[in-house]
This record gives sequence, structure tokens and C-alpha cells, in this order.
Amino acid sequence: MTTLGRDALAALSSAGITPREWIGEWSTDGTWSGDTCGCPDDRCIGHHHDARHACGCLPALLEEAAALRAAKRSKAALREAGAMD
Ligand SMILES: [Zn+2]
Ligand SMILES: [Zn+2]
Repeated sequence: MTTLGRDALAALSSAGITPREWIGEWSTDGTWSGDTCGCPDDRCIGHHHDARHACGCLPALLEEAAALRAAKRSKAALREAGAMD
């Protein structure tokens, strides 16, 4: 079974996402099915990028996830604001 590598864990924590949340984004059984670099594609290393290069997928996906969270948060805030009117 593949697990998230140290670089992936560091990238997640700097994006404010826990490994459990990240795994939950991509799998339903709670086990990581992606690659050690953090990409949900289990053949990322050697295909999307070289093993000695940093993953380009993870930062892009994290940015997307962060934007989605921000959108959800602001929608919730809007709802709350509306409810108070
Ligand atoms: Zn990838
Ligand atoms: Zn990768």
C-alpha cells in the first residue's frame, strides 16, 4: 500500500489540510490510493514527473481544494448573514 510521503505531508500541512482530509477527498475506504508525492494518481512519479522532481500536481490540487474551501466558507458566511437579517 502506498502512503503519503514526507514532502506530501509537508505540502498538506502548509495548505492547512490534514492527511486524513486529503485521503478522504480521493478515497472512500480511508486508505491512500494515490502516489507518495500526494497526487491522487498512483502512477504520478515517473509519469507526471520524475522521482527527483517535486510534484506539480499536488500544489495545483491543493490550491483548488483551498479555493473550494474558501468558497464554501464564504457561502456559509453569506447564509449566516442572510439569516440574521
Ligand atoms: Zn500527478
Ligand atoms: Zn506527483
